[in-house]
Amino acid sequence: MKEYSVFVAGEWVDTSVGSNIITDPATGKEVSRIPALTSEHVDAAVKAAERAMEESRWASDGRLRADVLSEWADRIAKNVDELAKQLTLENGKLLGEAKFEICNQVNVIRYNAGLARTVCGRSQSFGPDVMGVVVREPMGVVAVISPWNWPISLMVRDMAPALAAGNALLCKPASQTAGVSIDVLKLLAECEGLPSGILSMLTGSGSKVGHSMVEHPGIDMIAFTGDGSTGKQITRDAADTVKKIALELGGKSPFVICSDANLEKAIPELVSAVFTTTCGQICTAPSRLLVESSLKQEVCERLKDAIANIRIGNGMDPQSQMGAISTRSQYEKVLSYIEMGKKEATLVAGGEPVEGVDLSVSNFVAPSIFSDVDRHSPLVQEEIFGPILTVQTFDTDDEAIELANDTPFGLASAVFTENLHRAWYLSRRIKAGTVWVNTYNRFYAETEVGGYKESGVGRMAGHDGLMEFTQTKHINFDSVLPTGSAGRTSG
Ligand code: NAD
Repeated sequence: MKEYSVFVAGEWVDTSVGSNIITDPATGKEVSRIPALTSEHVDAAVKAAERAMEESRWASDGRLRADVLSEWADRIAKNVDELAKQLTLENGKLLGEAKFEICNQVNVIRYNAGLARTVCGRSQSFGPDVMGVVVREPMGVVAVISPWNWPISLMVRDMAPALAAGNALLCKPASQTAGVSIDVLKLLAECEGLPSGILSMLTGSGSKVGHSMVEHPGIDMIAFTGDGSTGKQITRDAADTVKKIALELGGKSPFVICSDANLEKAIPELVSAVFTTTCGQICTAPSRLLVESSLKQEVCERLKDAIANIRIGNGMDPQSQMGAISTRSQYEKVLSYIEMGKKEATLVAGGEPVEGVDLSVSNFVAPSIFSDVDRHSPLVQEEIFGPILTVQTFDTDDEAIELANDTPFGLASAVFTENLHRAWYLSRRIKAGTVWVNTYNRFYAETEVGGYKESGVGRMAGHDGLMEFTQTKHINFDSVLPTGSAGRTSG
């Protein structure tokens, strides 16, 4: 078992303060021991961050920030294999997906390193001797609170722009994947040029450590990615100290297949996005298939064939095509929705235990598909976060739009059609932060992501993602002399 320490207020803190254990979801074996911090550590981290913002060049020197971010990216690039292995051990995802997740962060950090040198405001003249200067400043001390499903990706997605904008960061990774998160944060903490206090790692439970960050008056902004109910609680808890909050929450994304869609492309994209990628534990998972009625039977047959051949197993095994559900509680939640589906709907495929594994310790679930589901059923309305797909049908584009928008969420969506006009008509009317046309789950450092409706507030990634971590200040220069004065002084 790997024993971890965390860097808080410029010092390493070990597990003697208390600890949490992480187990491998594929085998049930203990893999990491993580320090469980307290609100005192949060307070020390805030004070160190405030000091660092006052005393160092961090907030004012974009070139320094670009250098530190570039070094961090280089260090991650050199450690991809080791980081990916730890990620699979803690999360249960396939090793290939884990490598992809780590490698992608190198790209995201480098993009933000470039942006760090471009953070600037503007000036505007309001008369011969009056000038408004709008400077763009960091928010100050920012808390990044992240989930376990894509733990490195979602932590870095907020951290890189927050650092590029000149903020001090307090990072609270999800407890389930805290070890690999600390490994990645350590590579930043050791970068030459990062002022002491600008980064602290705050491991521990959400209800204690996370909550005390949200309530702390010294924290200026919370960047949170996680469950909707936690996001709502954080919004309430942060109200007394009036913090800025960015929320990236859950989804129930529709995947629309029109009668003219290219199924050779649509089916593999759907199977990958809702089943094999992180076992469907991804916020953008297209868990609602909306298919034009004339194609329903063919699409269901193709999906059935596709999932029959998926090899489910330990993420470390290169033969596996789908790994384990990350935690026991999530595994049990997924099973309860499968039971609900069997009672309420028609089981198209799946719904059976995985053969040949000890399910008393290993969190493996087979993909399941349900049709004839009531549109108000929890199967259609609630985020399950597992490999479960519901199938609904439509006959007109407007009906597809109505169904697509018929949940409280609005994170992502897809439209598969060969008809450009249909693609445009549907894309403009679906209420979601992302619409993929004839593709799925394509993310770029350069393009913003975020949610409509209950899927979130604010945007991450891209240029707007960096702007979220800044605030403007208007400095007004008035050099008009008082009436009756002789004019400008010279010299
Ligand atoms: P979660 O809300 O349980 O936990 C997320 C983080 O919040 C963890 O670090 C947790 O310790 C912390 N936390 C919990 N309670 C807290 C509190 N009261 N105050 C402060 N912090 C607290 O979410 P999860 O189960 O880790 O992640 C799964 C959820 O994340 C899903 O709903 C998924 O859709 C969502 N998600 C959203 C996106 C997105 O970009 N929109 C991406 C990935 C995951």
